[in-house]
Amino acid sequence: MTSKITDQIRGCLFGGAVGDALGYPIEFRREYEIFHRYGKRGISQYRLDYDTGEAIISDDTQMALFTANAVLVHQTNTAQMRLLEKVLPEDAASDMRYCQARACDDWLTTQRETFWGARTQRIRSGEKAFSWLLNVQELFDLRAPGNSCLAALEARRRKQDFQGSFVDHPVNQSKGCGGIMRIAPIALIPDPELPIEWIDREAAQASAVTHGHSLGYLTSAVLAHVIRRIVFPPEEKPMELKDIILEAKETVSELFRGDPHMDRLRDIIDLAVLLADPDDLGEGIRAPQGKNKDTNLHGVQSAQEAFDKDLENIHMLGEGWVAEETLGIALYCALRHQDDFSAGVIASVNHKGDSDSTGAVTGNILGALHGYDAIEEKWKNDLELSKVILEIADDLAHSGSITPDDLREGSAWMEKYGL
Ligand SMILES: [Mg+2]
Repeated sequence: MTSKITDQIRGCLFGGAVGDALGYPIEFRREYEIFHRYGKRGISQYRLDYDTGEAIISDDTQMALFTANAVLVHQTNTAQMRLLEKVLPEDAASDMRYCQARACDDWLTTQRETFWGARTQRIRSGEKAFSWLLNVQELFDLRAPGNSCLAALEARRRKQDFQGSFVDHPVNQSKGCGGIMRIAPIALIPDPELPIEWIDREAAQASAVTHGHSLGYLTSAVLAHVIRRIVFPPEEKPMELKDIILEAKETVSELFRGDPHMDRLRDIIDLAVLLADPDDLGEGIRAPQGKNKDTNLHGVQSAQEAFDKDLENIHMLGEGWVAEETLGIALYCALRHQDDFSAGVIASVNHKGDSDSTGAVTGNILGALHGYDAIEEKWKNDLELSKVILEIADDLAHSGSITPDDLREGSAWMEKYGL
C-alpha cells in the first residue's frame, strides 16, 4: 500500500480512539457539569486516568480493535485460498460474518473473564485463540460496555450462532450505537478492487451481530461507505466529503430498498448535511447572502459563538445513544470541521449524549481524511494502547499484499492471524 493509504488507515483507527478517549470521561455527564468542570468550551484535551496517567479508551475502541482483528483473519484466509490454493472448511474464516461474530465473542471473553483465567482455559483446551488480541492484558477491562452487545453476544455464545445472515435473522431489536462505533476497520480492507457495495453490506452484517434493528446496522453501512470513499476514492480522484455522504445515502438506500426505517436514515443524513452548511441550497446553489466561510456560518464570529452553534445543531440531531443520531452528529461534526481534526473531535464530544461514541465515529472519519501524521501531537501522547492500535492499523495496511512467506507455517503473521 502507498504510504498515503497506510497513513489514512492509521489515522482512521487512531482518530477513532482519540475521540473515544476524549469523550469517555464525559459520556454520562450533563452539559452543566461538563461546562462547569471544563470551561465554557468544554473538554478540549485528554483527562488522564489517575492511576495510569493515560487517556483511557472505552468499549468503542476495544471492539473496533476486535473488528480489525477479524478483518485480518479473513484477509489471511482469503490469501491462503488464493495464493496456496488451500481449500478451507465451510465454516471457515473465508466468511467475513463468521470472523466478525467470532471476534466479538472474544471481546465478550475480555468482559466476562480474567486475562489469566481465559489464558489457562485456552492452554487446557489446546485451542488457538481466534483473536491474538486476547494476549493483550489491558483489554480485559470493563469500560462501560453496552448492554445490547453483551446480551446479544451471550445469546450467540449459548447457541454457538456465528454464521449466516445476521441481518435476515435479527438477534434483537436494538438500534444502539454499539454497531456503528466499531465497524470502521471493515472499510479499510486494502483491496481497491473490492466493490464498495460489498463493504457496505458486510459492515451492516458486522453490526447486526449485536444490533438487530435496521437503524442499528444501516448506519454502519453508511459510515463504512464514507470511510471507504475517503481512503480509496474512485480512480484515485478524491471526492468532496459532502458528495461522498450523499452518495453513501443513495447507495445504502438502494442496497436495502424497502427497509421500513429508510426514511429516518435519509432524513438524519440530510439534516446533518444541511446544518453543516445552511447556505448551500443543494446542487451547489448558495443562498444569496453567501457569507465568507472563514467567518463561520450564520454570521457567527467568535470561537465561543461557533462552539455554541455547534452544540445547538448537535441538539437538533439528538444525543447519539442510538445509531442514527451517532451517525448524524458525527457527519455534522466531520463536515463542519473537515479542515481541522482537533476542532471536529472536540465539537463531537461536548454534549450531554454518548460522547465517546460520537467522538469515536467523528474521529474515524476525520482521521481517515487527514491521516495519522496530520493529527496533533497532543492526541498522540498518553493514549492508552496506542502501540496496539498502530500495530493493528499497520497490519491492516499490509494485508493487501500478503505474501506466501507471510503464510509460511510458524511465521509471525500466521501466529497472529492464521487459524
Ligand atoms: Mg463507550
